[in-house]
Amino acid sequence: MSTPIGSARDITLRALDVLAGADVLVAEDTRTLRHLMEIHGIPLNGRQVIAYHDHSGEVQMQRLLGLLAEGKSLAYASEAGTPLISDPGFELARAVAAAGLPMSAAPGPCAAICALTLSGLPSDRFLFAGFPPSAQGARRTFLEDLAPIQATLILYESPKRLAALLTDMAATLGGSRQAVVCRELTKRFEEVLRGSLTDLAAQIERREIKGEVVVLVDRAARTEATEESIAAALDTALQSMSVKDAASFVSQDLNVSRKIVYRIALARSQG
Ligand code: SAM
Repeated sequence: MSTPIGSARDITLRALDVLAGADVLVAEDTRTLRHLMEIHGIPLNGRQVIAYHDHSGEVQMQRLLGLLAEGKSLAYASEAGTPLISDPGFELARAVAAAGLPMSAAPGPCAAICALTLSGLPSDRFLFAGFPPSAQGARRTFLEDLAPIQATLILYESPKRLAALLTDMAATLGGSRQAVVCRELTKRFEEVLRGSLTDLAAQIERREIKGEVVVLVDRAARTEATEESIAAALDTALQSMSVKDAASFVSQDLNVSRKIVYRIALARSQG
């Protein structure tokens, strides 16, 4: 189940029902969950609150699976936001799925999605890449892999590494790409900073950043498609698609008229 990323009132009614009704409560941080339940007036009524994260080990995992197999209902919350999203829960969800036990999600707040909705950047296609590595060499390699992706990129970062991240993003993705930094979402000092990667790196360099941040960056500008680049994309697509499907795919991917691409595709498939 998801829990708030700032404002406690972002809890969903369904999450409150789950907290009130589960036989056993399981949490990344048991104190945070107890506190959230106190805020919303949900009594524990003597129920167990078990600590669990992805490194809790096999014994703890088997204990939880055993409880589920006995027919007990378990509610799992990570410290904030949606479990599994740069938070624990993946190993547990995978084990529950593999055991064929019933599982459901109570969706709710997630900093990545909240930031995307505020960013003003295209939301039709996005890639959530989590936290970049903290060492500079590894971070640059990580960013180079993301550079050509045709999607809005969403990253989590600690405020103390934000300036270094933006500088490396400008160097690897190109300083002119539009980017957004969302800070302290749903909290009192919520702030959204927009600009090119070069602008943002300079702004952040000049001030001390506190709190939690999400960094988003627009996709790479497409280079103009040429007859050669269309032909090369078609040759790859034609290996696994019909002429018609390859033409549709490449025309969408390169943003070129379907008619032009179809003509080139026909010529290549016949030649
Ligand atoms: N599971 C959470 C979710 O659904 O967003 C994310 C947990 S991750 C350990 C924590 C990171 O999420 C922070 O370092 C920050 O990058 C981002 N984050 C969480 N809450 C935030 C908020 N209120 N404002 C901005 N970023 C936030």
